[in-house]
Amino acid sequence: MRLTVLGCAGSFPGPDSACSAYLVEADGFRLLIDFGSGSLSALQRYAGLHAVDAILLTHLHCDHMLDACTYIVVRRYAPQGPLPSLPVYAPAGAHDRIAAAYSSEPEAVDDVYTFYGLQPGTFPIGPFTVTVDRVNHPVETYGVRLEWQKRVVAYSSDTAPCDALIRLAHGADLFLCEASYLDGVENPPDLHLTGREAGEIATKAGVGKLLLTHLVTAWGSEATTFEEAESAFDGPIEIVRPGARYEL
Ligand SMILES: [Zn+2]
Repeated sequence: MRLTVLGCAGSFPGPDSACSAYLVEADGFRLLIDFGSGSLSALQRYAGLHAVDAILLTHLHCDHMLDACTYIVVRRYAPQGPLPSLPVYAPAGAHDRIAAAYSSEPEAVDDVYTFYGLQPGTFPIGPFTVTVDRVNHPVETYGVRLEWQKRVVAYSSDTAPCDALIRLAHGADLFLCEASYLDGVENPPDLHLTGREAGEIATKAGVGKLLLTHLVTAWGSEATTFEEAESAFDGPIEIVRPGARYEL
């Protein structure tokens, strides 16, 4: 199983990174998890324009899904003819949200995407066993656990601390966890994690490696976020970068 970070900027694109998008591959199958602003560019740079067999959108905030709109052009108007419909696993309302953002005169996008509504539970996508559960964010949002041949990648999506995330990340080899906020300031509740909170969850879940993502670098500090995470988790920690690949 291979994880490639396409975009990891929190909340809005940064100077050096698109918003959230992660490509997970196994047995030749390519699952794109989130498709945030700017990440279609990164998909071409680090994988390929058509290098997607299924999409999972953890929630419908712009920085996690907006390039699913621009990608309609790629699939529908390909010079060689329309590409096969892609399965999209997403919260309820994804079709209408994508259609509305795609055009000022919304039209159906069912020719490009086949939608499957997410609900807490376990189901297969390609070779992966996928478990999703609701996490603590203002809109319907799912944390993700991906298993393939006893290897596990867990992803927080956007969330404040919650027990569901500890369960999803339990024993994960790689735990891709958001760390949007810094400690010691008045952060809005039920929205995001600090580096320390990401570290605490990693410790409670007993993960192998903590990958910090979704930092809002324009407003925060990578060094401080890293130190906060280190104060709460003894294992290896990395702040992810676009193009970073992890094999497991
Ligand atoms: Zn969000």
